[in-house]
Amino acid sequence: MKCPNCGAATLVPDTRDLPYTYKDETTLLPAVTADWCPACGEAVMAMDESQRVSQAMLEFNKQVNAGLVDPDFIGTVKRKLQLDQREAELAALKQAGHALNEQLASRGVEPEAIVAEFEQARKAGRLQPGDPHDKKTR
Ligand SMILES: [Zn+2]
Repeated sequence: MKCPNCGAATLVPDTRDLPYTYKDETTLLPAVTADWCPACGEAVMAMDESQRVSQAMLEFNKQVNAGLVDPDFIGTVKRKLQLDQREAELAALKQAGHALNEQLASRGVEPEAIVAEFEQARKAGRLQPGDPHDKKTR
């Protein structure tokens, strides 16, 4: 079978990692089974494989657009590490919230009361720098 892209070479069936670049971010799509052109690098895939690869490309595009891509990580390893990192960030957030609650409680302040006050201030449009109580009379 001749290459549909350059028409020059005979395609070689193989399973390779396919480099894919989107907006200057490059990843490797792992274990892509296709007929590869040794001249221009074109990969001719079966329908199923083609769908799987476009899906992986779209997924990568989404990650790039969301700013989630770290160039140090590649493929599934990258995805796994990002999940771990997200969990770590969540845990840190929870811890910070917990510490804040404890601080407030140690001063005899109910966190719920503070939240309620902020919410009231926000609704009344007086969540400004400075003491909101100054602006009570409008
Ligand atoms: Zn070719």
